[in-house]
Amino acid sequence: MGKIIDGKAVAKQLVSEIAKEVEAFSKDFRVPHLAVIIAGDDPASRVYVKSKVRASEKCGIDVDLVKFPADIKESELFQKLDELNNDNSIDGILVQLPLPSQLDSKKVIERISPYKDVDGFHPYNLGKILEGDPLFVPCTPLGIIELLKRYNVKTTGKKAVVVGRSVIVGKPIAMLLANKSKNGNATVTICHSKTAGIKKILSEADIIVCAAGKAKMINGDMVKPGVIIIDVGINRIKDETVKRGYRLVGDVDFESVSPKASLITPVPGGVGPMTVAMLMKNTLKAARLKYKNKG
Ligand code: NAD
Repeated sequence: MGKIIDGKAVAKQLVSEIAKEVEAFSKDFRVPHLAVIIAGDDPASRVYVKSKVRASEKCGIDVDLVKFPADIKESELFQKLDELNNDNSIDGILVQLPLPSQLDSKKVIERISPYKDVDGFHPYNLGKILEGDPLFVPCTPLGIIELLKRYNVKTTGKKAVVVGRSVIVGKPIAMLLANKSKNGNATVTICHSKTAGIKKILSEADIIVCAAGKAKMINGDMVKPGVIIIDVGINRIKDETVKRGYRLVGDVDFESVSPKASLITPVPGGVGPMTVAMLMKNTLKAARLKYKNKG
């Protein structure tokens, strides 16, 4: 049985480390300040926003929750974003996705100042990753790199396979692993829904990051002994034995893969908890950016 990467414990540890750093920063300068915008009342978004607010409070970061109705016009949202961009007391701005259908999320993200873009979705920040000089990295890929660091995974020269090519997980983590850096230098293959011969590609991987959103798509027969597995997927599967009628599973069949893996993230409790912790890290970074040359 492979060693489990305990994302929950690492995230808890990180939050307490960040809280200490925030305390010191607040003494020297001021309390970091995050603005979280939510439009409409999508239940999942509300849960995510709540956990971001709670984490901010734990870290000693001020947080403003800005709520808009589902029928908000683009111009109203842009006006708020411009106001927050120009407000010196605001360090980080996050717009909770998905947005109501009348809004173009790409345009909305591009309206956020790249220096306050703590989600790291702005094209400027994605471009900085490509350039090999990241500023704000999207929270999930940043959390994956942090887990690899904390479990002493050496990536240099390793064959890494990333399944999924989304802008928020697949592409940035692939680029980070390939970049010339201490936690990069891997040889990366990106697989997606049109990849031919994925089984062979997976069977040769030293490290697999799976972010496809397909329950149990990778099983023990597809991986080599000693593989390191980072399972990003979050999928609901029916389970009549539990009260809520479903349970969460990853993209990886934990039962058959974990005996072969040297390290593996569980779902839940692996990558998931890291994402919010990294948002805190990015918010502190945004606050520090303002005072870079003053302390
Ligand atoms: P997405 O849903 O936008 O896209 C899925 C990607 O997987 C696509 O690029 C597609 O080409 C690829 N794909 C789909 N089926 C495939 C298959 N059979 N073989 C190979 N590739 C396939 O991706 P996303 O937004 O990155 O989300 C992926 C999963 O990660 C979802 O389950 C999501 O809930 C989860 N997620 C978790 C976190 C976290 O914090 N743990 C954060 C973001 C996303």
